Amino acid sequence: MRFIRDIHAGKEAAGKPTLSFEFFPFKTPEGEATFFGKTLPSLMTAKPDYASVTYGAGGTTREKTLEIVECIQNDFGLTTMAHLTCVRHTRAEIGGILDEAAKRGIRNILALRGDPPPGENWAQTEGGFEYASELVTYLRERGGFGVGVAGFPEGHMDCAGGREADWRHLVGKVNRGADLVITQMFFDNADYFRLAGFLREQGVTAPLFPGIIPVSSAGQIRKFSAMCGATVPEAFASRLDALGDDAEAVRDCGIDYATAQCRELLDRGAPGLHFYTLNKSQSVLRILDNLGLG
Ligand code: FAD
Repeated sequence: MRFIRDIHAGKEAAGKPTLSFEFFPFKTPEGEATFFGKTLPSLMTAKPDYASVTYGAGGTTREKTLEIVECIQNDFGLTTMAHLTCVRHTRAEIGGILDEAAKRGIRNILALRGDPPPGENWAQTEGGFEYASELVTYLRERGGFGVGVAGFPEGHMDCAGGREADWRHLVGKVNRGADLVITQMFFDNADYFRLAGFLREQGVTAPLFPGIIPVSSAGQIRKFSAMCGATVPEAFASRLDALGDDAEAVRDCGIDYATAQCRELLDRGAPGLHFYTLNKSQSVLRILDNLGLG
């Protein structure tokens, strides 16, 4: 499998956006059967450039994440990045996970600090890493992996110094050797363009891939945005509320919103699109179809 930075360089040279899909480890055998039997095959029709698979809080999905990445790569021929967090891991454990990842043919890692378990504040594990930037350095010293990091168009929730202080930490992560940045979900493109402008001014050339979530439920998006600090604009929230329990209308509204968001992002120079698929295909495929990328 290839480094994502090389895949992106090829797309950029061809004047095309880099398209990626994010998945999370399923919890049941039925979930697995649906994912590999239906969801992924239908998403593959959009010819994604790469995928990524999340890593559960506290390493709870460690084996699963690596297994799923390996399966997607081997059975579908799609380069896939494994997310990895510092939560409850020592440096030695991280080294072991990376050995295992390398054995499974994984070549790209999204280096994250991770969130503390629910109800707890972030605390560095003894013998572990405090910030994602330290994991980036560790990955670079070790070699053999392409490295991605997370970026926050509205600033990260824990950053006491505010948005720009967080963005400066992001610049630090990239300068330690990250090849690419994937953003947290956002609903106001102005936030993305502000971060992109800041990174440009700081001399960062790594691509900033916007993270897009197709909204399919008003309640769900409120929960997600509260968890990750993404603001849902009032007008969009009211539109969703007005649709009440009409699931199809809410989904259509989410598709229209994300289509408009993606269109403007690409028109104004975003290097690609990263979809938070929530292991579903329908909305993503319709958005790509609307954009002429299906
Ligand atoms: P860091 O870059 O370490 O930043 C954490 C906080 O510390 C920020 O507030 C930052 O401003 C601050 N900071 C950084 N460096 C310094 C410094 N030197 N001094 C002082 N403060 C500093 N979570 C999961 O558990 N599993 C996943 O699979 C997962 N995937 C994600 C994918 C994407 C694309 C995104 C955007 C997020 C994902 N997350 C995931 C969530 C992420 O782990 C959390 O948001 C976490 O709280 C921050 O991770 P980070 O890697 O950005 O941390």
